[in-house]
Amino acid sequence: MSVTVKSAKEIELMRKAGHLLEGVYEEMGRIIRPGISTMEINECGEKAIRKRGCIPNFLHYGGFPASICVSVNDEVVHGIPRRDHILKEGDIVSLDAGLIYKGYHSDAARTYAVGKISPELKQLMDVTKQSFFEGLKYAKAGNHLYDISAAIDDYVSQFGYGIVQDLVGHGIGTSLHEDPQVPNFRQKKRGMKLVPGMTLAIEPMINMGTWEVIWEEDKWTVVTKDHKPSAHYENTVLITDGEPELLTLHM
Ligand code: MG
Repeated sequence: MSVTVKSAKEIELMRKAGHLLEGVYEEMGRIIRPGISTMEINECGEKAIRKRGCIPNFLHYGGFPASICVSVNDEVVHGIPRRDHILKEGDIVSLDAGLIYKGYHSDAARTYAVGKISPELKQLMDVTKQSFFEGLKYAKAGNHLYDISAAIDDYVSQFGYGIVQDLVGHGIGTSLHEDPQVPNFRQKKRGMKLVPGMTLAIEPMINMGTWEVIWEEDKWTVVTKDHKPSAHYENTVLITDGEPELLTLHM
């Protein structure tokens, strides 16, 4: 699949898809507290997506059994929601969710604190989020794709954290995953030139310890190899003539 450049009309639909997803996150964010199950978060998110007249794009994607990926502590991404997985004080929980609006996809991820968390976990969450914004500074027409990757890497590496390499960001549009891949670590080359109308899901996944990850027996849940915690932050981003536009976050 080649990289798609969206028309003004398509951009309008993606903007709407992104804005609707932001509302879904507001609803999910409100229910996160010690004592709720990861399944309850999934149900809240799916309901919020459907009541907006949209379709959860993760549901049945490659066989994924839920609408929202809910990953706790050492789970990096693709955590399967469960009735018997109860959040407790001091956990961190990463949600990855997306929806389809009139054929166009949005995709975003956030990591939340459950009750009061340690300063170490707070820093991991803050650095992960900030690394997205460091990459975003380079998401401009005329720059190259891997300028984004290098900026994320340079920022995160100062803290001694591990950057997940097995999973990366991606183009997005009428498919959830389009070309190009958007790595969160430095590449040897600068990659393709960015042009207005490209839409990218930039999504650093940052581990407190090693960058290495393993897949659990359920074939979905990705966990850190050393079982230290991991955080995730993602937005769908539009490349423009000027500053990048965040489609899934209004600041
Ligand atoms: Mg994504």
